[in-house]
Amino acid sequence: MSSELGKMNAFAMAQQQLDTVAKRLGLNTSIHERLRYPKRSLSISVPVTMDNGIVRVFQGYRVHHNLFRGPAKGGIRYQEDVSLDEVSALAMWMTWKCALMEIPFGGAKGGVICTPREMSQGELERMTRRMTSELMIFLGPNKDIPAPDMNTNAQTMAWIMDTYSMNVGHSVPSVVTGKPIALGGSKGREDATGSGCLFTILELLKRTNRSVDGLRVAVQGFGNVGGTVARLIQQAGATVVAVSDYRGGIYRPNGLDIPSVVAHAKEAGQVGGFADSDRVTNAELLELECDVLIPAALGNQITTGNADRIRAQIIAEGANGPTTPEADHILQTRGITVIPDILANAGGVTVSYFEWVQGLMEFFWSEDEVRQRLNRIMTQAFESTWNMAQKEHVDLRTAAYMLAVARVAEAGTLRGVYP
Ligand code: NAD
Repeated sequence: MSSELGKMNAFAMAQQQLDTVAKRLGLNTSIHERLRYPKRSLSISVPVTMDNGIVRVFQGYRVHHNLFRGPAKGGIRYQEDVSLDEVSALAMWMTWKCALMEIPFGGAKGGVICTPREMSQGELERMTRRMTSELMIFLGPNKDIPAPDMNTNAQTMAWIMDTYSMNVGHSVPSVVTGKPIALGGSKGREDATGSGCLFTILELLKRTNRSVDGLRVAVQGFGNVGGTVARLIQQAGATVVAVSDYRGGIYRPNGLDIPSVVAHAKEAGQVGGFADSDRVTNAELLELECDVLIPAALGNQITTGNADRIRAQIIAEGANGPTTPEADHILQTRGITVIPDILANAGGVTVSYFEWVQGLMEFFWSEDEVRQRLNRIMTQAFESTWNMAQKEHVDLRTAAYMLAVARVAEAGTLRGVYP
């Protein structure tokens, strides 16, 4: 089976990754078969009265991949090229991510096909509220808990929480995570994915006797994940030589001052045009001379088409699914270390878990407590992955998958097949 058939086959890529690990684990075929498919998928159409009075219908999806270990957890993205195939792959990756972090959730993902930057706040709010109503049969604090993803944020989560609450007749903050703090959001959630990503890079550096000081870093994507990790890794002592958004990137070999880039992007609506920087395309950014490459935007970015031209020695996958299995193989033979998405960007779902727990207890933690707990869980997950990789002589992705898939398989075997 070839997995590198473009975005259309993200799910085939996810299945291929599972198959490889199942074989290595010697997984029982009955449980392997159950893990290969989503438990359920919901396809919705979302009618929205646009500002000009015309009704447009947006297509959306929510997929539950697996619920052996707990309720469904995963983000909702708004993007032009959302597809059921891609959402299914992302849901499967969420199952593995939650298992790797040992947090009691199953994997889910959702998305709506739209171009949010061309929509007004009012249109986005009406679309979000109608989408939530259409998803009601899936959602619930013990059933399915969405979170932000590409082009969705704390405000989107506030609308989902409010719509769900209106439908059931009482306030249910724990139905979403990534909410504003004023509505029961957790301290530290906004930065959690970026700071978790930095954490994994620092752990890897420690184990390879390298320092973050002066390390040259390129970051694709300048949103919640990319913007945060760029800021934090610069604060830690690295030199961020390039960043990008959907319109392209900027490059400055001597380093970009990230707070100034943030201020410029806020005003200009893009990172492009930043003083004293050269323009690069998103494709060129991936191949720049640097030590660490952090893809933090889209999936399917490192493929057989460019894997042999990547110059970084470390790739930390802030985005979900940025590397295809064939590209992974090329990177491995070239000695490039990949910190896999299910570990590198798991800080987000971990603090989402904290938010859910705090909401159910109605008792809230300080930022310090959140940070300490996040560090404990990230350390544990990194260590187990590293040790598994050493013991089995495999790359970090295979090691992370071996841990995660074995945990989900064990839960499924214990639960058995109903009826
Ligand atoms: P975001 O919407 O905050 O930011 C996305 C960034 O990517 C923006 O800068 C956007 O301009 C850029 N982008 C969009 N299309 C692009 C393109 N074609 N080429 C290059 N850049 C493009 O989204 P986010 O929350 O930062 O998510 C980014 C990635 O991280 C996604 O893969 C998401 O699934 C993953 N992720 C997010 C979280 C989270 O907590 N937000 C957690 C885990 C994983």
